[in-house]
Amino acid sequence: MEITEIRVFLKEGQDKKLKAYVTVTFDNVFVVRNIKVVQGSEALFIAMPSRKMKNICPGCHFKNEAGSRYCSHCGGTIPPDAGEIKTTDAKADHRDIAHPITRQFREYLQTRILEAYKKEAATGKCSGSLSSAEVTSGVED
Ligand SMILES: [Zn+2]
Repeated sequence: MEITEIRVFLKEGQDKKLKAYVTVTFDNVFVVRNIKVVQGSEALFIAMPSRKMKNICPGCHFKNEAGSRYCSHCGGTIPPDAGEIKTTDAKADHRDIAHPITRQFREYLQTRILEAYKKEAATGKCSGSLSSAEVTSGVED
């Protein structure tokens, strides 16, 4: 599988850690949006798109997507204030929507994305062609 297009949407200034959103096209036929470029403590890294799993079904205790009104496991109604999961492991609340399953492909993906990000960051801040509304659509953070 090859990366055929990478589009970088810089987000600098709003969040110190979140540097950009990236849309990646694979083999000209498959697109993954909302991959994030994040400034870690030592280096930049990428975060795959994920959804917050927060609303616990009172009937079966299945963790549903944040904001869900009905349980996707048993179909029961979820109260709007259904318990936020209290956990010290923040990652437990997020599930990747799409992600590489081999280390090699993850490294290839990350390398290509960070290259594209650095190029975009170096050439100016006004290149993102999408409106801010489009850039933020679907982003839950
Ligand atoms: Zn349920």
